[in-house]
Amino acid sequence: MTNLRSDGFEGSITLVSDEAYHPYQRPPLSKKMLAGEVAADRLLLKPPRFYEQNGVDVRLNTRATAIDRENHMVVLADAPAIPFGKLLLATGSRPRPIPVSGADLPGIFYLRSLADVSALRPELSAGSKLVIVGGGYIGLEVAAIARSLGVEVHLVEAASRLLARVASPAISDFYLETHRARGVEIALDMAVHGFWGTGRVEGVQLGDERTVPADLVLVCIGAIPNSELAQEAGLTVEGGILVDDHARTSDPDIYAVGDCAAHRSPIYGSVIRLESVHNAIEQAKAASAGMTGKHRPYHTTPWFWSDQYEFKLQSAGLLIGAERSEVIGSLASGSFSVRHFIGDALRAVECVNDPATFMTSRAALNEALVCTGATAPTFTE
Ligand SMILES: Cc1cc2nc3c(=O)[nH]c(=O)nc-3n(C[C@H](O)[C@H](O)[C@H](O)COP(=O)(O)OP(=O)(O)OC[C@H]3O[C@@H](n4cnc5c(N)ncnc54)[C@H](O)[C@@H]3O)c2cc1C
Repeated sequence: MTNLRSDGFEGSITLVSDEAYHPYQRPPLSKKMLAGEVAADRLLLKPPRFYEQNGVDVRLNTRATAIDRENHMVVLADAPAIPFGKLLLATGSRPRPIPVSGADLPGIFYLRSLADVSALRPELSAGSKLVIVGGGYIGLEVAAIARSLGVEVHLVEAASRLLARVASPAISDFYLETHRARGVEIALDMAVHGFWGTGRVEGVQLGDERTVPADLVLVCIGAIPNSELAQEAGLTVEGGILVDDHARTSDPDIYAVGDCAAHRSPIYGSVIRLESVHNAIEQAKAASAGMTGKHRPYHTTPWFWSDQYEFKLQSAGLLIGAERSEVIGSLASGSFSVRHFIGDALRAVECVNDPATFMTSRAALNEALVCTGATAPTFTE
């Protein structure tokens, strides 16, 4: 929307969201917002008057239920359909539900939205027993905040290490030790068989027959792209709404960006779907350009960050295909980086409290990208 106006688009823009708030940042939900350090209104990406000033018709609490491609209309749940010239799908993703017994007991939470934080935050009182299912970024960030609030935390992870899908073993080891040193009980290689309780969750049944008592449970076992609208409209979906490097779907009038979109990456040689703010912003720039007849393809090194205790993790590039790694600095000092290579070529970097290495490595990765000139195939080619 911001890009469309700066790209010279003067037509009408309608923003449809099924949430009650204007668009907001999600990263603080598992960090400063959960810690009680930031109020909800500080999360808004733009103040509500911005939308008025830029001629954007914002429809909150409104759910899109179908795309009528033939008639170029978006069908809404409780309001008349909206006609479109171009359509942008930025429907994001939703928490993956846990398919075990007792999963619908009160006291079991997920974390995706402001409404989720409002429900979870009052439950995090000193001495309460929290079980976190899933040792990815969100689970670990919540563990860190919960410990700072005096909550007893037990974290259960099905894989053999933390952050297994997104980080290297060195980073996993560092965060395992860090969380254990702060009092988080961590069980790896451990399945959850179910939840029990009378009227509310009281415990978690683990795969080794043990039961962990719980006053509340947070399930963070990944996210599912909200690609159903696209799928039902007959657009190509491959683990996400498939887009080219202009963020265009298999319908040239429909674009998709952010968590709901997947693209064929020329860098990594496969279809990838990223869940990061940077990816959503970069794809939005490409989509705006595509819609206004400009050429600004999505072509960038992915990067991500995570805050846990006093440690800031920043990573750039993906580990896919990496053959060897080197550690700069020492894990014991709490300030180090892990650089990953294919041959002599830098592939990815992960930095803990080491912003200088992050900046130079990210610049090097972007430079290498420009040199290869790799681009993804478009639907029209
Ligand atoms: C707790 C948490 C912490 C995170 N921390 C980080 C971080 O540290 N760094 C980082 O880079 N990324 C982080 N992320 C990921 C980042 O927030 C997402 O990648 C980003 O929000 C994706 O933006 P999006 O616009 O694609 O989707 P979203 O922000 O999910 O927005 C999609 C919107 O579409 C709405 N919607 C969906 N379907 C419909 C429909 N049919 N009709 C109407 N509205 C609909 C949704 O309700 C939602 O409001 C975090 C995410 C979470 C949940």
